[in-house]
Amino acid sequence: MFASVIIDQDTKALDKVFDYRIPSEMEVQKGDRVLVSFGSRMIQAFVVDIKQESSFDSSKIKPILAKLDGEPIIKPEMLELMNFMCKKFHLRLTSILKLFIPSEIREGKVRELFVKWVKLSKSFLPEQVKNAKVQKKIVETLQKHSKIKMLDLKKQFGQSALKAMVEKGIVEIELERSFRKPFSNQTVEKKIVLNDLQKNAVNSVVENGVYLLHGVTGSGKTEVYMNLIARVLEKDKNAIMLVPEISLTPQVMSAFKSRFGENVAVLHSSLSAGERFDEWKRLFSGEARVVVGARSAIFAPLDRIGIIIIDEQHEQSYISESNPRYDTFEIAKFRAEYNNCPLVVGSATPSVDIYEQAKQGNVKLIEMPTRANGKDLPKIQIVDMMNEFRLGNSGIFSSQLISDLANVVNEKKQAMIFINRRGFSSFMMCRECGYVAKCETCDVNLVYHREDNRLKCHYCGKQYRTLDRCPNCGSEKIKQGAVGTERVVNELKEIFPNVKILRMDNDTTSKKNGHEKILSEFRESKPAILVGTQMIAKGHDFEDVTLVGIIDADQSLYRGDYRSTERCFQLITQVSGRAGRSKSEGKVVLQTYSPRHYVYKFASNYDYKGFFKKEENLRKTAVFPPFSKIIRILFAHPDENVVRDELKLCYNKLLKVREKYFDDIIYMDAMKSPIKKIKNSYRYQVVIRMLLNNSDEIENEIFKCTDENLKSSVFFEVNPESMS
Ligand code: ADP
Ligand code: ZN
Ligand code: ZN
Repeated sequence: MFASVIIDQDTKALDKVFDYRIPSEMEVQKGDRVLVSFGSRMIQAFVVDIKQESSFDSSKIKPILAKLDGEPIIKPEMLELMNFMCKKFHLRLTSILKLFIPSEIREGKVRELFVKWVKLSKSFLPEQVKNAKVQKKIVETLQKHSKIKMLDLKKQFGQSALKAMVEKGIVEIELERSFRKPFSNQTVEKKIVLNDLQKNAVNSVVENGVYLLHGVTGSGKTEVYMNLIARVLEKDKNAIMLVPEISLTPQVMSAFKSRFGENVAVLHSSLSAGERFDEWKRLFSGEARVVVGARSAIFAPLDRIGIIIIDEQHEQSYISESNPRYDTFEIAKFRAEYNNCPLVVGSATPSVDIYEQAKQGNVKLIEMPTRANGKDLPKIQIVDMMNEFRLGNSGIFSSQLISDLANVVNEKKQAMIFINRRGFSSFMMCRECGYVAKCETCDVNLVYHREDNRLKCHYCGKQYRTLDRCPNCGSEKIKQGAVGTERVVNELKEIFPNVKILRMDNDTTSKKNGHEKILSEFRESKPAILVGTQMIAKGHDFEDVTLVGIIDADQSLYRGDYRSTERCFQLITQVSGRAGRSKSEGKVVLQTYSPRHYVYKFASNYDYKGFFKKEENLRKTAVFPPFSKIIRILFAHPDENVVRDELKLCYNKLLKVREKYFDDIIYMDAMKSPIKKIKNSYRYQVVIRMLLNNSDEIENEIFKCTDENLKSSVFFEVNPESMS
């Protein structure tokens, strides 16, 4: 028998399957972690297939040296998922492995899932080690102690002697589980009584399939999720609950811990590798049965999954944008189908894409249109900043926002000021008439590139001169530029010298627990103003926040991306949701230079459906997703000539695909990426937009064009979140 294995090293050269012989006395299954000799080394590998015959020269095939665990570490479901991800996202097997197996038990690491004991084999004869000094010593040691941990032997005698002894069958390896056996179910205590909307939501999730829980902020979605999970646990099944990293607040974690106790494993980015491994082990062994975590928790080693939940479905962080690139939703769908269980995604602002699917009946829609505490959503007041400008106020804050802040201060309440950094200083806008520079052919906003001082379209690559005068009204007050958190804080301190003003952004939260410190300081101070970026937009439940200010709402609107408006709507709704969460009424002041943009009308009325309808129409007309598919193939390599040549090579093949599907492919071009160089790698891209008719077929053909053994790293994205 032979085993096909993948080598645990993420390099392109090793991204293939290697065959090893299975020694007759060894029982090897698919998914096993094994030890093999590779060149002069002993390294670990993962068995992905077992077969009767190998197509390689069987006299040259080496044997597997040892099994490393007592049971397969990659379960059958995950092996299938691996193949699925390979095809769907065009990833290397070895990159996928990194997602499945924690770093602590990957190549070179000392932590063990099973303790490996070495002992002399029964057939051992002293002649076998007559001429080998080190081997002789190992034998002596083993004769004294009968069995010794492999790690200790390696430390003492090095690995080459040991490798030889394993190969010759002088010693044997015995495995022992290093984790506890799972303990039995815990009873679940219930505190909050579900309201009718929540009950209806829980009862609506009846069978497999995808469900969209559309519930306004504060409608009590978390309670619904917890009840769904409790139901699954009662049926002796397991659950996966995903939240965006940013909303994995201690509040959320403790809610789950107090509800499900030891059954919960939490995976988030501030865990050390060791802590992460411990949680993984508890899931692998069945000791923990619910995983709550960010994106990567979708790969949790749970079987018998009874439900998968994705909270804040619209969040961009569910798309991995660095290698390996994947879409969490697609993986969740695969796992839900495999386990024949429901997939529930929830949001106050679902993506246009998923809502369209719900409209077409592929996804079942569940609605919770009111807050659980019966309170109204906070009133959103739109302030026209161009008008402020005309009245002589060229500052950051409108007079409305200042007077509302003064009220908050007088009443000893709290306020949050939100600054959007995502579209950072990218678009050009006239401060006098609101004109925004757009591409002539694509109708998306142009993006300013500082390095060559030009405006560029991210969809067609067309370039334009930067403007020093507004083409619409002639004003010179046309500029790009965003306001930073620091500047906002400084100006607020001048206006309210005696008020606690806190700042939360990437700079202030980079230290461990930085996040937590700022939030707890804010919680304890009244009056107080918290100034922040996206980080303050979700998850937080502060009782005394009565005012939310949104400084430059337009920032997200003009990102040069067909999703800009959708993102803007989502942000406003999420940020507004922070206000008035308990007794006190809440209010939102939204400052904009484009007060008449439809997104503000719908957002300020919390009219998701109205927004969707408008947006759906626009996308249909402009043929953007979900009514078309955009594919970006990104090439990156430190040598610019290499990327350019390889891009050309693929592009020539792509031209043939285009010819074949001439009616379906509505746009295709190759260009430099907007961010030309990242970490010393030059980046070039091909962008393709196509109708949906034959898009799966075309996608496959496009895949094939990049199948070449290229030097560049090639990333393949469908409807990419970012084109930069
Ligand atoms: P969402 O995730 O939908 O924005 P949350 O789950 O954070 O909303 O719930 C908002 C608030 O309402 C929380 O403080 C929660 O404890 C409370 N809550 C949820 N369900 C109920 C209920 N049935 N009765 C009273 N309060 C509830
Ligand atoms: Zn103008
Ligand atoms: Zn364009």
